[in-house]
Amino acid sequence: MSFRVVADLDLCQAHQVCQHEAPDVFGFDEDADKVVVLQDDPDVSLREQVASALRYCPAMALAIEEEEQA
Ligand code: SF4
Repeated sequence: MSFRVVADLDLCQAHQVCQHEAPDVFGFDEDADKVVVLQDDPDVSLREQVASALRYCPAMALAIEEEEQA
């Protein structure tokens, strides 16, 4: 099932763990000091990486939303 990635920028504390876990999906805005979601609708093959980023984000700022297949 496809999924969407959501980042709560109010919670993000700029730890950048997510970029380490899933560099294709998460970037970082140095000026804003916040995560940037590079792909909010990533391929399912990246799901494990994204799940790791969610698991290890110290601020719990990331979420996966399941998407129904059309
Ligand atoms: S790991 Fe969490 S707190 Fe750190 S940059 Fe990513 S979203 Fe923000």
